[in-house]
Amino acid sequence: MNKRAWQNLLIALLLGINAWPSIAASRETLDWLLVNGRVVDGSGGPEQSRAVGSVNGHLRLFANDQTLPDAQRVIDVSGLIVAPGFIDPHTHARGDLLSKDNNHVLNYLTQGVTTLAIGNDGDGTINIAERFEQLSINGTGTNVVQFVGHGALRRAIMGNENRAATESELQVMEAQLVAAFEQGAAGLSLGLFYTPGNYAPTSEVVRLCRIAAAWDRICEAHIRSESSRGLGVFAAIEEMIEIGRQSGAAIHIAHIKVLGRDVWGGSTRAIELIERAQKEGINISADQYPWVASSTQLKNAILSAEWLSGSRSQWLTRLLDAENKGAVLADLEQGIARRGGGQMLMLVGTDDPVIEGLRLSEVAQKWDMTEAQAALKLLQEAPPRVVSFNMSEKDVAHFMRRPWVATSSDGTDGHPRKYASFPRKYNQYVREQGTLSLAEFVQRSSALSAQILGLKDRGVLKEGFVSDVVVFDPELYRDVATFQDWDQITQGVRWLFLAGETVIERGQYHGALHGQNLALPKVSGRVEKK
Ligand SMILES: [Zn+2]
Repeated sequence: MNKRAWQNLLIALLLGINAWPSIAASRETLDWLLVNGRVVDGSGGPEQSRAVGSVNGHLRLFANDQTLPDAQRVIDVSGLIVAPGFIDPHTHARGDLLSKDNNHVLNYLTQGVTTLAIGNDGDGTINIAERFEQLSINGTGTNVVQFVGHGALRRAIMGNENRAATESELQVMEAQLVAAFEQGAAGLSLGLFYTPGNYAPTSEVVRLCRIAAAWDRICEAHIRSESSRGLGVFAAIEEMIEIGRQSGAAIHIAHIKVLGRDVWGGSTRAIELIERAQKEGINISADQYPWVASSTQLKNAILSAEWLSGSRSQWLTRLLDAENKGAVLADLEQGIARRGGGQMLMLVGTDDPVIEGLRLSEVAQKWDMTEAQAALKLLQEAPPRVVSFNMSEKDVAHFMRRPWVATSSDGTDGHPRKYASFPRKYNQYVREQGTLSLAEFVQRSSALSAQILGLKDRGVLKEGFVSDVVVFDPELYRDVATFQDWDQITQGVRWLFLAGETVIERGQYHGALHGQNLALPKVSGRVEKK
């Protein structure tokens, strides 16, 4: 720098003008620059015609009339949508990410997803650092965010016992939760519908969510009921609101829905409850996958929780006990009816190719049994999953329109949501039905999820943010997977970048594993502990 430049810099510093970036910018060569694209930046604002560049993994944005800097690679993306890489806050991708064959999670990359959360539904490991280590040794296609699971915390100290935790057990769980947050967990996940989370009283959850509040982390939940079963979906939502009220933690309802004919139309009431709580000052959000069918294990779908405590052999013995037979079959019958009957339950993930993909009603007919008897027989063999057609389109769209509902997949084998949740939401609900605008779809698939998870520098195409970027063809980006062919790869993503690295190039994936572990920084004490 010559004398004059030093003088200018000194003057600029004295005047409080930040002179360094412009000096740096004038010399900068970008790694890449996307020109002529339709930029939807994730903020929810309308699309803009801008150039999007990246240097050292961070974004640079330019107006079209600006002189553009040099770039090693200039990519013309005329006619394509440029958006922040999508963020999926609720998945079951842990197994794939830790596998040797599926750790690229191509099913997500091809949807334009650059970040996945794992450890949802109360299930996430308590050894967050160890899991991050395993993931980085294995390599991952996407970035990964982790939840620590309430069920896992509970199992570590009290197994699968059907009772409230004692004070000393609670203190152990609290200490382990703090350790998990120190290791970068993004929040506490609750599986209050599942064993053993369903054994925990509200007060136990409040205690743990207070720790989350103190750490400014969310409490995400598969709530106690999504249907008319047990305490019912509305009381289950009210329980979450009460947990938020008493703990001060941000509450997040996973895969929000009203499941089963008994509660169809209930989205109005559910939304009212949640928005009233928001007005009261409780931070509450949700995510949703855009399908009218859910998927879970057959046993959880149609049996009441009281039959399912203990290990598999324990609950099987209980179900097959001659004394219980009548009650078990009656409970199964009721559970099947609540889900719309055996014709609404499609069996997947079985070991038997003869029944795979059949409806429970068809299997019952084949075996010449009632649907409840057939279900009981299925539970004794390799326990299958079900795809359960149990939601109404109206409720799905109603939830989707709310500004606090993010896009998720809840992806599991046997359901197309694992391969196509994001493109389906775009194709079905933006292009065909106009439920959401393009800008709303992008915002709820990126910025909103980043905000919910506490990712401060992702989810928006903003100067200096991390260069996680998707470029998709608005005509070709669509869901190909169906309930019959659930593992069909999505088409239409032309380019995908993770922290500036090219992952998909002109629609082709080249096998790169550029995913990063996204551990949340320690920010203890930012929120007053109640
Ligand atoms: Zn769940």
